[in-house]
Amino acid sequence: MSVKTADKSGDTAMNNAVLRKTPMISLVVPCFNEESAIKLLYEETLNVLEKGEGITDLEFIFVDDGSKDATLEELRKYAALDSRVRYLSFSRNFGKEAALFAGLSEAAGDFVVTLDADLQDPPSLIPDMLNTVRSNEYDCAATRRVTRKGEPLIRSFFARCFYYLMAKLADVEVVDGARDFRLMSRVYVDAILALKERNRFSKGIFPWIGFKTKWFEYENRERSAGETKWSFWKLVIYAFNGIIAFSSKPLAIASVFGILIFLASLILIAIIVIRKATGHVVNVDGWASTTCIILLTSGIQLFSVGVLGQYIAKTYTEVKHRPHYIIREAS
Ligand code: UDP
Ligand code: MG
Repeated sequence: MSVKTADKSGDTAMNNAVLRKTPMISLVVPCFNEESAIKLLYEETLNVLEKGEGITDLEFIFVDDGSKDATLEELRKYAALDSRVRYLSFSRNFGKEAALFAGLSEAAGDFVVTLDADLQDPPSLIPDMLNTVRSNEYDCAATRRVTRKGEPLIRSFFARCFYYLMAKLADVEVVDGARDFRLMSRVYVDAILALKERNRFSKGIFPWIGFKTKWFEYENRERSAGETKWSFWKLVIYAFNGIIAFSSKPLAIASVFGILIFLASLILIAIIVIRKATGHVVNVDGWASTTCIILLTSGIQLFSVGVLGQYIAKTYTEVKHRPHYIIREAS
């Protein structure tokens, strides 16, 4: 059993890429309980790239993100069948972001594609994406879904709310419907790998590193097999992490609440003093309004402490410098 951490530098991959004459494509596929999807993905991708385009210099890097089903057995099988298939298997589920980071760290290609195992990211787009980036005019070919057909309405609604909030709060532009399905040049991948943060939010990292990106649009597709790995709550937490990772505006909002309440209290004090001075009887029946004010202010205080706590918690996980993932087995 080998324990390998994410702090491997991208240098080796870059050197390998430079030494090779014909450009090589790495396909990075995060897999969490995808036993039935791997075969379909492998076959369709080869169909498009090898049969369709005659591209043979490629490698698959499957990252088994602590699957509980037979994903690892499938990967072992394909690695034994085809030397271009490599895999990493995590010691537990570290999440898709960690799986993508591991795959990118391992990828040796001059061009690297990240795509989901479930064929929701159509490999048929790869040739066009490759031509775009090979032309040197762009460093990355990215994709976005233009429809959310087949997705539960409530999920689409919250997804829209998330993108709206991100647009208002985040310091980077997060594109609505953007997928993690991308084809990237070597410099682009190395730039991503240079960002070593633990709380990874790719949808923010991509725009943050910059470079020239061309967008490809496509209609949403149903999963080839299996079911989505994202529960509603997993998505909510993911959305909060994204906002905290790329914006400090929630802290400013908490401060604004504090200032507004302070100003309101000054006005109220002034009113009470004036009423007293002008001989008005103080209303002793004010318990209901007092309780409401206490509840309101303590609610806002707890909210603000919570916001602050989120940033401190993220800082805590960053300073611990734990590896992004732990590999239990690799091909
Ligand atoms: N995935 C992963 N780790 C996780 C959750 C998902 O590696 O903890 C992988 C999953 O196997 C798939 C991709 O991430 O290849 C996207 O997941 P999914 O299709 O479930 O998400 P959706 O398309 O429904 O947003
Ligand atoms: Mg999917």
